[in-house]
Amino acid sequence: MRIEILGSAAGGGFPQWNCNCRNCQRLRAGNFRGQSRTQTQVAVSNDGRSWFLLNASPDLRIQIERTPVLQPCSAVRDSPIAGVLLTSADIDQIAGLLSLRELQPFRTYCTASLRRVLQEDNSAFGMLNRVPQQVCWTEIKLHESFPLRTVAGDDCGISCEVISLGNKYPVYVSPQRAAMLKSEEALLGVMLTAASGSRLAYMPAVPAINEQLLAVLETADLILFDGTFWSDNELIQVQGSGATAREMGHVPISGDDGSLRRLAGLRRPRKVFVHVNNTNPMLDESSPEYHEAGAAGWEVAEDGWQFNL
Ligand SMILES: [Zn+2]
Repeated sequence: MRIEILGSAAGGGFPQWNCNCRNCQRLRAGNFRGQSRTQTQVAVSNDGRSWFLLNASPDLRIQIERTPVLQPCSAVRDSPIAGVLLTSADIDQIAGLLSLRELQPFRTYCTASLRRVLQEDNSAFGMLNRVPQQVCWTEIKLHESFPLRTVAGDDCGISCEVISLGNKYPVYVSPQRAAMLKSEEALLGVMLTAASGSRLAYMPAVPAINEQLLAVLETADLILFDGTFWSDNELIQVQGSGATAREMGHVPISGDDGSLRRLAGLRRPRKVFVHVNNTNPMLDESSPEYHEAGAAGWEVAEDGWQFNL
């Protein structure tokens, strides 16, 4: 399985259009030791011809333009993108679907709850169903493995299983609507098994870490994990107000029950942070936080990184 990191920042990207925090300001001024980043986006492929997107970031269009393997290569209208796997209804994870609305066929994979939110509630997503078979919506279930299929319907060689990571739907889902949905389908973690048997854990948003999750992560060869915030009160420190990392559904990296310490016992997987918020001090490669993460065995993903499993 080939894995391409097309983007590695949290919502808003780095720098963010309306942010003048120390990181964003220094990056724009050209005296920041670190990279700008688009919003988190990952693509996987078994054969290098059919590609599957893990969510669809708001930056998807430019990410495709920077990634030759995702560009049309045969017909006048054509795309190697065979499908999109959705893990939540957050705008950060779905907005890019609207960049795929030009009547090009592809598959989506999401739970029944997510499909209802996207298809029944949001008329904008009707753009994906203007003609029959434009998009084939495939409902998936927790803990039931399924193959990712090419547009023609063939098993692509990557098998997928999703687990529940959280029970909060995004704020734009009304409480009445949320009450009609399964809470455990609100936020998923993904385990992909390559034809080689190697496994990828993709979890860009993790509200809490428990023993069950640690056991799943230990079965992975590579984990792409929630690196949104370094500390729980990071946004409040930068903005003077706002929510904590945990209130926003992200376990912070630092602290006694942060991801660095909680995942320190994992032996098998290579550990990589994605979905890094623009306020995270770890973005600065000369920062103590960047070195602390490295010393703990973590890497901080950058746009353009590739892996082979
Ligand atoms: Zn900023």
